[in-house]
Amino acid sequence: MTKKVIPLIDSRSFLPPSLPPTLPSILEAPTGLIADELGRPLHDLRISVTDRCNFRCVYCMPRAVFDKDYAFLPHTALLSFEEITRLASLFVAHGVHKIRLTGGEPLLRKHIETLIAMLSALKTPDGKELDLTLTTNGSLLAKKAQALKDAGLKRVTVSLDALDENIFQRMNDADFPVSEVLRGLDVAHQVGLGPIKVNMVVKRGVNDQEILPMARYFKNTPYILRFIEYMDVGASNGWKMDEVVPSAEVAQLIQTELPMQPVAANYLGETAQRWRYADGIGEIGLISSVTQAFCHDCSRARLSTEGKLYTCLFASAGHDLRALLRSECSDQEISSVIGQLWRARDDRYSELRTQNTEGLASPRKKVEMSYIGG
Ligand code: SF4
Repeated sequence: MTKKVIPLIDSRSFLPPSLPPTLPSILEAPTGLIADELGRPLHDLRISVTDRCNFRCVYCMPRAVFDKDYAFLPHTALLSFEEITRLASLFVAHGVHKIRLTGGEPLLRKHIETLIAMLSALKTPDGKELDLTLTTNGSLLAKKAQALKDAGLKRVTVSLDALDENIFQRMNDADFPVSEVLRGLDVAHQVGLGPIKVNMVVKRGVNDQEILPMARYFKNTPYILRFIEYMDVGASNGWKMDEVVPSAEVAQLIQTELPMQPVAANYLGETAQRWRYADGIGEIGLISSVTQAFCHDCSRARLSTEGKLYTCLFASAGHDLRALLRSECSDQEISSVIGQLWRARDDRYSELRTQNTEGLASPRKKVEMSYIGG
């Protein structure tokens, strides 16, 4: 059978023009030490397992866009668990040691625990287990936590934007109660899915009054609360700079009541700046994606639900790895393509946006967060 030659390059205008449009003529074995144009290694892989979600968060999947007529991907377009695992193993050979499953809402993907079991069997080239985690809105966590743990998931990150019922429901736009998310956190903790992080996206005028109540509530729990600056991901959330609450302002506000000290990062490339409470009980994280971009050590690749590789959260288009998977390419060929794409990577959108925020934010076409995961 003749092997199809798949064009690898899409319409991203910022790709280096020298990147060949077909499979590389010389195939290379992965070394586990690949670096991009800016010297950044490939350490993290985020895999979106569904583009669907049962919430309609205003900053991610606004109901006006993602309504009943919205065309989500058909099942045949999704990567199968075997395809995901095959790609993941190739990324691991290139140096990935952390895999995060995202969505949409990843717990909506049927039999997700089967995929987790398959991924948890992968080992890094030096024989270590992967840091296998998942980001969820928490709605199905109470029901699924035990099965996830049994399948080999290490920990979870839960999105929660407010404790106040009205604010939370206005943000998730799906009448989902806070109490169910909190119950999910408790069950996840009980079954040993930890450390658990709680992500709060702060949007000025929408949930910034919840900063202190969230800090107070989570201070005496086993969970690490992280405040995330509202970002201009995708094109459907109508982002404006004045809706961003800078992390410095969040820290200052919390300090008025709960004194804190900055703490060193756990590892190079950690997105959150860590702060520990002065009384030694609890810590928070500040993710300053807008005001203090961290592109300089961004080591994350993203795989969309239908198998496109994105080398930046703000990319306009991805590289179709599914086409390679489904056209009889060998592992070595696909691995060489991954290596080639990573080496050519020079994305640093947030750093550029920091210098010219509103100029960059609106006109460019960008992939939606609900499609690529956060
Ligand atoms: S903007 Fe792109 S390169 Fe910069 S931190 Fe975000 S994903 Fe990484």
